[in-house]
Amino acid sequence: VQGCALPWKACELEAIAELRSLIVGIVLRQAEDLAAMNYELQRSNEELDSFAYIASHDLKEPLRGIHNYANFLMEDYAETLADDGVTKLETLVRLTQRMEDLINSLLHFSRLGRAELIRQSVNLNELVQQVIDTLTITRPHNEIEFRIPQSLPSIPCDRAQMNELFTNLISNAMKYNDKAEKWVEIGFIEGNRRREVAFPPASASSSPHTFYVRDNGIGISQEHLDKIFQIFRRLHGRDDFGGGTGAGLTIARKIVERHGGRIWVESTPLQGSTFYFTLSAEANA
Ligand code: ADP
Repeated sequence: VQGCALPWKACELEAIAELRSLIVGIVLRQAEDLAAMNYELQRSNEELDSFAYIASHDLKEPLRGIHNYANFLMEDYAETLADDGVTKLETLVRLTQRMEDLINSLLHFSRLGRAELIRQSVNLNELVQQVIDTLTITRPHNEIEFRIPQSLPSIPCDRAQMNELFTNLISNAMKYNDKAEKWVEIGFIEGNRRREVAFPPASASSSPHTFYVRDNGIGISQEHLDKIFQIFRRLHGRDDFGGGTGAGLTIARKIVERHGGRIWVESTPLQGSTFYFTLSAEANA
């Protein structure tokens, strides 16, 4: 229908203009609030990072002192002490060493959040091969079959951090395995086949590839799948499966997130686990 409506009255036009400016005002105010909240969040994140750094850095010195003095006591007085006294001193040395390991992990984690990301094209096939070579040199008695079904691509990323990410995931895949014939598979799923993977949510990443590290190891029960990414969270005794501080997966998650991606795990107890991660082409940090 055309030409039937009455012309707009001046007061109606005025009211509409007023309404428009009110809506624009609200939208602008919301955008400002959001920007302020973002800024505040970023600032408190930075504060938390530097707090973790300073706290752990400053804790190291007195801890080293306790460790050294316990060692001096052992060296100078072990003969005059009863067996029980020596055992207690040994425990003291072991605990201070453990605490130093934990502090070093925390320091490393907080440094990771602050370090600048140096993106360059990295051939992941070569990188993963180097990681496997290094890990097999340091664990020569651990017979494991490594499978790379398809040559991995080159992508823009931080080489050192990628090395650490694959090292953490592959060494876990090697460690948490008690099968007679162990294998670890490293691969990727191309963008157009990504729907075959149950997770991540569609918004997770603009990455063309989802990478994975799969093993036929001990697996992880459903209720622990989220917890293992928390710092210092271990599912086993302190020295079981070669030991560890429980920071490896927290660091892995930080690296993936700094590359604008997501990391998650699927697992069947006693059968094995698959750690998936995506990497976006754009820096997120
Ligand atoms: P760490 O290996 O130093 O204990 P991580 O953060 O790397 O610390 O791993 C946390 C926990 O997650 C481990 O203690 C282990 O219980 C579990 N986990 C990690 N990777 C695997 C895997 N591939 N298979 C089974 N369990 C795993």
